[in-house]
Amino acid sequence: MSIEQYRKKIIDITERIIELVGERERMAEKIAMKKRDNKIPIDDAGAEEKLIDSVIKKSRKSKVDIETALNILSVLLNDSKRVQRDILGIADKQRISPMAMASVAMDLQRSGRKLYRLDVGEPDFHPPQRVIDACNSALQSFKTHYTRTRGIPELTQALSSYIKKKHGYDAVEEQLMITPGGRFAIYSALASILKRGESAIVIEPNWPMYREALEYLGCRCISIHTELDDAWEPSVEEINKRIKSHTKAIILSYPCNPTGKVISREKFGQIIEVAKDRNLTVLSDEIYNDYAYTDCPSILDYDLSDFVLTSSFSKTWAMTGFRIGYAVSSTSMIEKMLKISSLMITSVPEFIQYGAIAALESEDAVKRNSREMKRRIKIASEELEKIDSLEFMKPDGGMYVFPRIKGKRIDSSEFAMSLLKKRGVSITPGNGFGDYPDFFRISLGQNEETIKQGIRIIGEELN
Ligand code: PMP
Repeated sequence: MSIEQYRKKIIDITERIIELVGERERMAEKIAMKKRDNKIPIDDAGAEEKLIDSVIKKSRKSKVDIETALNILSVLLNDSKRVQRDILGIADKQRISPMAMASVAMDLQRSGRKLYRLDVGEPDFHPPQRVIDACNSALQSFKTHYTRTRGIPELTQALSSYIKKKHGYDAVEEQLMITPGGRFAIYSALASILKRGESAIVIEPNWPMYREALEYLGCRCISIHTELDDAWEPSVEEINKRIKSHTKAIILSYPCNPTGKVISREKFGQIIEVAKDRNLTVLSDEIYNDYAYTDCPSILDYDLSDFVLTSSFSKTWAMTGFRIGYAVSSTSMIEKMLKISSLMITSVPEFIQYGAIAALESEDAVKRNSREMKRRIKIASEELEKIDSLEFMKPDGGMYVFPRIKGKRIDSSEFAMSLLKKRGVSITPGNGFGDYPDFFRISLGQNEETIKQGIRIIGEELN
């Protein structure tokens, strides 16, 4: 056959694939209608896992590269979900993200409405004065340039000493990298660990970014559901059982956003053992570590080579708007993450990095902020206990409380929206954090009066 004839064949095959995709979409529509009639949720982890197993088997048999097959499957799975969501009329409102809720609240505020903002995931504290001074003086001396992507040497050295003091861990410079916030550290870690079609274990409820980033990268999120009734304890057996050949990472984050849960050192260690056994990289997002009021394990306390610790200056020093965070990992992983960072941002602004050095030296601010957050957890818990129709676990740490509306299975997205529009109290619906439609998150980023008053209004609306 001539090259033209081969090319014609390629076109034919591709057209056949497209026809099959159409057939598959019609099938997904039929399934959506059945799910609607029988009130079954769209996501069905069991069905997905069965499909993945069959694709792996088939690709082995047909001598198709497994990575390519999983890649195609990930596109097909997303396509089915889109088709099913369209049919069921469930747009993204099913998963109202904290950001989405905040943007509705901000629009209302701009129109002059006074709100109780219990949705915002940032502390209302000011950053330490010495951080402001350090940024100011850096600006005055024209520290206004690009820097090394990794971060200025003065900051990576200060970070290394800070980590040594905090965790007793010796991190060489090649294991560190400064990022624009914890968010970017997490994204660049996931993008470095996983390839399209692969999957990561995420323990829910959790911060929505993990799922969103994984899906954006064409990867799958294997959710381990935890329950309030089990005090938000993840099951190590379930984690072990759900790991597949395409699973490359597990994401841990304690204290947890939104529950405030901290798991024991022993359980953390058991999860790490599973990760080691099954060759997973552990991504530990330790952004709330300084707001922990029980013994809180860090990934750096364990003997493990495949890990990434991500953290940030956002919460500990109330520096959300500075956009600065960091990652600690193996030299080879940091190298991969630096490639993404250099491609996308070049570096974090130079004068901001000088501010971060001052933050690392502001132990007094850490203590003060941590004490205040502990007090707010106590205040919020006491107020919430007065509301009969709510139940919750008193947080071990973090910046949030995650109560459930007892008895009736209510849609917390609708509750949150009506609470915001009717009473001016802004909370985040539970669906943003996983399959928790009868829960909502209260942020403790605001002052005592706002927290108390906001929770009292919630009580009035529920009774
Ligand atoms: N991790 C968790 C669990 C968070 O809640 C947040 C912010 N809400 C971040 C990471 C990222 O924060 P930043 O990018 O401001 O460091």
